[in-house]
Amino acid sequence: MSWAAHDLEPYAMQRHLGKRVAIIPLIIGSYAPDLTTKWFVYGVSLFGFKLKADNPAQFHRGWPGAGFTHSLAFGVVIALLILLFTRRRIWAFSFLLGQWAHALTDTGDTVGTMLLFPVTTHHFSVGAWAYAGQTGRFNDAGAYFSGLGFVWDGIWIALATLGWRVLTRSYFEETVLPGDPIWTWAQAALPGAAVIALYRASFFYGVSRWVAWVLWAHVANSYPMDLTWGGPHWVPALTASLPPVRAGPARMAFLCPCGSCC
Ligand SMILES: [Zn+2]
Repeated sequence: MSWAAHDLEPYAMQRHLGKRVAIIPLIIGSYAPDLTTKWFVYGVSLFGFKLKADNPAQFHRGWPGAGFTHSLAFGVVIALLILLFTRRRIWAFSFLLGQWAHALTDTGDTVGTMLLFPVTTHHFSVGAWAYAGQTGRFNDAGAYFSGLGFVWDGIWIALATLGWRVLTRSYFEETVLPGDPIWTWAQAALPGAAVIALYRASFFYGVSRWVAWVLWAHVANSYPMDLTWGGPHWVPALTASLPPVRAGPARMAFLCPCGSCC
């Protein structure tokens, strides 16, 4: 899994594709695969119950599970639905690009993604950094920002920063605004400064997140850096050969928060 890369890739694509893309569906596409899955991977507490996948990696990337959200076909289906309901090709195309970038980016970790689902449930994985989502949000962050994930996100920060011109008001007004009516509607409802801030939000979110997690992992805590392939090796990384699954969809685990009775 990647962290800041999903926030920043849309701006790099915006820089190269200009008026051929619309940044909002591009960003939504880039977030889409994790939007509906990641909360359940790490678990949330709701009304005293902990909702968490029994097997987080299987749920997040596998089948049965929600791994289909990380396939190329999922992007195509949602893009076609967008086209059907909105008749806006640029929205459908931009969503598709964002979602594909996400699915391809996540092949960088040791679990990888089912890119060609439903043709095959094979996980395509480059295995450059450890998948540690099953260890919980904080440990996962500590591991990600101590391995090659830290470098990968750093590359996207560099690329997005080199393309800083896309963040300027003049670029927004000349290239982004005319191509997408969402911005015209936003301008009618919000002050100009708020609209620009909205346009830049994912960029600043990605950069701040990267800086904050790096400081958290290596200044506030002392997670050991391990930039070797597939690392950090101090974390129990999962691989594409996921643990055996029971038949049926991923089950929800209802755990009592007291931790002793259930
Ligand atoms: Zn993902």
